[in-house]
Amino acid sequence: MIEAKGVKLSFGQTPALRGADLAVEQGEIVAVMGPSGSGKSTLLHCLAGILVPDEGEIHFGGQRIDTLGETERSALRRDRCGFVFQFGQLVPELTAEENVALPLLLAGVRRAKAVAATAPWFAKLGLDGLERRRSGELSGGQAQRVALARGLVAEPSVLFADEPTGALDSLTGEQVMDLLVASAREQGTTVVLVTHEARVAAYADRHVMVRDGKVASLAAAS
Ligand code: ATP
Ligand code: MG
Repeated sequence: MIEAKGVKLSFGQTPALRGADLAVEQGEIVAVMGPSGSGKSTLLHCLAGILVPDEGEIHFGGQRIDTLGETERSALRRDRCGFVFQFGQLVPELTAEENVALPLLLAGVRRAKAVAATAPWFAKLGLDGLERRRSGELSGGQAQRVALARGLVAEPSVLFADEPTGALDSLTGEQVMDLLVASAREQGTTVVLVTHEARVAAYADRHVMVRDGKVASLAAAS
């Protein structure tokens, strides 16, 4: 479904990926682990076509995407991918509801319908009553759950989630992971999840370790 082959990428003089290989099957939930600065977020951004590698190839749904232009890559992201970024990236001036509706609005869904489609996610994620709150006025954990709702609302074929439980206490983190995994299984969503927490990684079908810009080892989830 998604594959990185020999991916290298440097930021100026800093090598972030040094020949990373990873293949993720359709419907699989893969946890990407590894030390801080090892290249996890960079790998996720390459798989999603947000960053283009200096060397190597990225294949998405049978198509090579690293050779596509930004317009085609962004259309692919809009149509097939959901994202939960490591650092939230909600639009602070918009309400929580408007933030969650964004992927639908970008896909051309009419506003009233898009906003209506957000309602079940507020209930599922324990965010009832916060729909009209500006997202800049949410707590870190609330904002993270809003970001997760935004990632899932358009029922993407692939969800990329970078530390989606990083700002949550362990109980809320588990509730969020239960929901993420249930939604993914129900919709057949492929999930690539970055986490440093073993109990979050335990939800995945498979773990991979990134070290020094390479995917170091593969192990079955326990
Ligand atoms: P963390 O667990 O702390 O989130 P990570 O494994 O996600 O770390 P990356 O964010 O992928 O690590 O970073 C890999 C390397 O690339 C690091 O050395 C980092 O400093 C560098 N890096 C990442 N993004 C940039 C950027 N935009 N500009 C310059 N260097 C960057
Ligand atoms: Mg990171």
